[in-house]
Amino acid sequence: MAKYKLEYLWLDGYTPVPNLRGKTQIKEFADFPTLEQLPYWGFDGSSTQQAEGKSSDCVLKPVAVYPDSTRINGVLVMCEVMMPDKVTPHPTNFRATILDDPGAWFGFEQEYFFYQDGKPIGFPEFGYPAPQGPYYTGVGFSNVGSVARQIVEEHLDICLNAGINHEGINAEVAKGQWEFQIFGKGSKKCADEMWVARYILQRLCEKYEIDIEYHCKPLGATDWNGSGMHANFSTEYLRTVGGKEYFEKLMAAFEKYKDEHIAVYGPDNHMRLTGLHETQSIDKFSYGIADRGASIRVPHSFVNDGYKGYLEDRRPNSQGDPYAIASRILKTVASVEV
Ligand code: ADP
Ligand code: MN
Ligand code: MN
Repeated sequence: MAKYKLEYLWLDGYTPVPNLRGKTQIKEFADFPTLEQLPYWGFDGSSTQQAEGKSSDCVLKPVAVYPDSTRINGVLVMCEVMMPDKVTPHPTNFRATILDDPGAWFGFEQEYFFYQDGKPIGFPEFGYPAPQGPYYTGVGFSNVGSVARQIVEEHLDICLNAGINHEGINAEVAKGQWEFQIFGKGSKKCADEMWVARYILQRLCEKYEIDIEYHCKPLGATDWNGSGMHANFSTEYLRTVGGKEYFEKLMAAFEKYKDEHIAVYGPDNHMRLTGLHETQSIDKFSYGIADRGASIRVPHSFVNDGYKGYLEDRRPNSQGDPYAIASRILKTVASVEV
């Protein structure tokens, strides 16, 4: 038997975007615990905007488990928040509302800024650094600094050790801005991994006295790029059957539910979806082949393969909840008859 450190993670009740919370309990197991072996747990919902003080218990239901290579016998346990009856999802539990479809594959591209002292790392005390240009996929101290790459590499290793399906990392267009991509088969699986990867990144940055700024336009209405979280998606039908007629019906449904999509694609997105900086404006819906100024980019491969494959919704922003985003995309897809 060994004592394992189980870090239970959940999303709190803050709006417009939830925060990650976590606390540790120690339990003995013969081997690395499976999901089925992990007990439900509780927390004080009155401290997380999830309950009133007089009846404050909320329940944590483990839904995914990952090794935590930063701690001896460490385990990360992603949880859903449940009501005290243990079976009713808490109103803040978006994950429970996803129409899960193991045939739905998602790839999220998470952009973010490293922040210290109220500005991106690498920014001078006053004013701005040299304009955008050399930073995207850049190399060298004056382009990417010294500490950012160290954090990004450590983050990648911790995530890979946890079994999170990272697909890649890169320095982004603005100074102090980076990206990582996660791909998953199954909407819940991919979204769980995104939340856990965010948790690992924020926790890692504590020792560097750096915060992660997920806001989609932290530098406001300047020429500095904002941050998105492009959502690449496909379903079994889109990958194997597809076709131009189905694709056009699907795009008509995306147009019809434009506002419902924007509602869950992250706060303050009007600041980012301006029609500039490789975005479509927030009040328009468009799609286009290889068009990075469209709401949905259709890869060349999709058209070349007879309208089969995956599509990229470029509207979700860096602060969006991947549960809510995947859930909305699958709802719109389900509204279209095949
Ligand atoms: P970008 O140029 O926008 O960065 P990439 O081509 O690098 O786009 O990334 C496309 C992303 O699409 C990949 O990271 C992957 O996660 C995702 N993807 C690839 N194939 C599929 C698929 N069949 N279904 C869903 N997502 C996919
Ligand atoms: Mn990017
Ligand atoms: Mn993209």
